Amino acid sequence: MKLLGNNPAFCFINNEWVPGCSAQRVPVINPSNGEVLCEIARGTADDIDIAVMAAQAALEGDWGRASAAERGRVLHNIGAIILDHAEELAELEAHDVGKPLKQARADVVALARYMEFYAGAADKVHGATIPYLNGYTVYTMREPHGVTGHIIPWNYPMQIIGRSVGAALAMGNAAVLKPAEEACLTALAFGELARLAGLPKGALNIVPGFGAEAGNALAQHPLVRHVSFTGSVDVGKLIQESTAHHVVPLTLELGGKSPQLVFEDADIDVALPFLVNAGIQNAGQTCSASSRILVQRQIYDQIVEAMTQMYTDLRVGPAMDDLDLGPVISKRQKEIVEGYLDRGRDLNLVAKGQVSASAPEGGSYVAPVLFADVPPDHVLAQEEIFGPVQVVIPFDDETEALAIANGTQFGLVASVWSRDGARQMRLAKKLRAGQVFLNNYGAGGGVELPFGGTGLSGHGREKGFEALYGFSSLKTVAALHGS
Ligand code: NAP
Ligand code: MG
Repeated sequence: MKLLGNNPAFCFINNEWVPGCSAQRVPVINPSNGEVLCEIARGTADDIDIAVMAAQAALEGDWGRASAAERGRVLHNIGAIILDHAEELAELEAHDVGKPLKQARADVVALARYMEFYAGAADKVHGATIPYLNGYTVYTMREPHGVTGHIIPWNYPMQIIGRSVGAALAMGNAAVLKPAEEACLTALAFGELARLAGLPKGALNIVPGFGAEAGNALAQHPLVRHVSFTGSVDVGKLIQESTAHHVVPLTLELGGKSPQLVFEDADIDVALPFLVNAGIQNAGQTCSASSRILVQRQIYDQIVEAMTQMYTDLRVGPAMDDLDLGPVISKRQKEIVEGYLDRGRDLNLVAKGQVSASAPEGGSYVAPVLFADVPPDHVLAQEEIFGPVQVVIPFDDETEALAIANGTQFGLVASVWSRDGARQMRLAKKLRAGQVFLNNYGAGGGVELPFGGTGLSGHGREKGFEALYGFSSLKTVAALHGS
């Protein structure tokens, strides 16, 4: 833990490492073996208040005065320094979150790529002139909200920091970040790297701690002018109530139950790795995981058989062994997933991966499980499990496939596997999802692609250029000067 020293139990405020006000600490568990890795600060409402004040001061200081080009340059430097420390960040994440090293490395590259993307975009956002009555000149401009609050989950800390904090900083906001207490270490390391890269003090402040304490205080703080929340539906609803109190805009990135629709004319060889990987990546703990595979009857047996073979070959083990899957984040998460498996005990379990012999007893390992012939209204086909579990559901025709696909309360991602162009276009229009992929899934991370949901999956968009509009507000200026 070179970047953080031996003891990361601090908050990052005003480019300084400060002990939390309560002096209490939270142990950080390595999910690969269940052992305590280190401790972090248990941030309180007082720490949040100090962090928000520091952010507010930054807006009135060097950061607020920086030009768009200067903000872009700082983000560019942060991206470069992240790549200089790529291996250290990847190992930190592997130990903290249990990600197989290749996934952790991919997250580091994505974080750097977000910084590059928003570095380049910072000075490309501009307003418009609007033709109006004679004697007027009217124009619009984009302004930062002010202090932005970022509450993020444990499953992809680096990627979510990249898309949310990166876009907020590009637009000139000053950010306060509350990472998930189960996955704080790369967030704290990001603060240190941002400082080394020249980010002015107060532009980014990080307060670790529990959601009900630090997170709640951040969502309710009267000086926070925009909140970005990524996490569960239940907490998302609480955040929406908190921000309603101050009438503050909010981006909610919640969960999903995303389907892939496989038609009889699909290129099955291309589809298969996407079908499985989209379900088991990060041990299924991905908001955009594809947990429902809908298959047309003509090719149903063929797909189930091929997926069964692929599942049987999957290996689960410690993050540093870099197998197909690591552990899930915690013992609690393992219990949640096992609870769902128990509720699926009457279903047709067709395949299960294997936990490697090298997996320590204390780790939180779940072997990936594939169910076939699952009724679309079964709880395992309706609720987000957030573990390595996929269900396969047969359908007869396009109408039925669409009804099943749209038949949950979520609407995050969907994909269509078919060579029929007209069908692709019809379904792209009718699928209820923030992203639709045609003959692929997830598009390689998609830093550039606007992302977000509908229904219980949330509202607002992050990623891509679109995020910059969410992290700014539009002002219209109308000048009457006569003709
Ligand atoms: P979570 O329990 O909702 O936690 C998310 C964040 O909110 C954490 O930082 C958590 O802090 C904090 N929090 C908890 N209670 C809070 C409260 N009362 N007020 C303010 N903040 C609070 O979700 P999770 O278990 O970490 O993550 C899993 C969920 O996130 C899944 O449902 C998944 O679908 C969703 N997710 C969605 C996306 C997306 O982009 N759509 C991405 C990733 C994950 P502590 O955990 O430290 O207490
Ligand atoms: Mg951990």
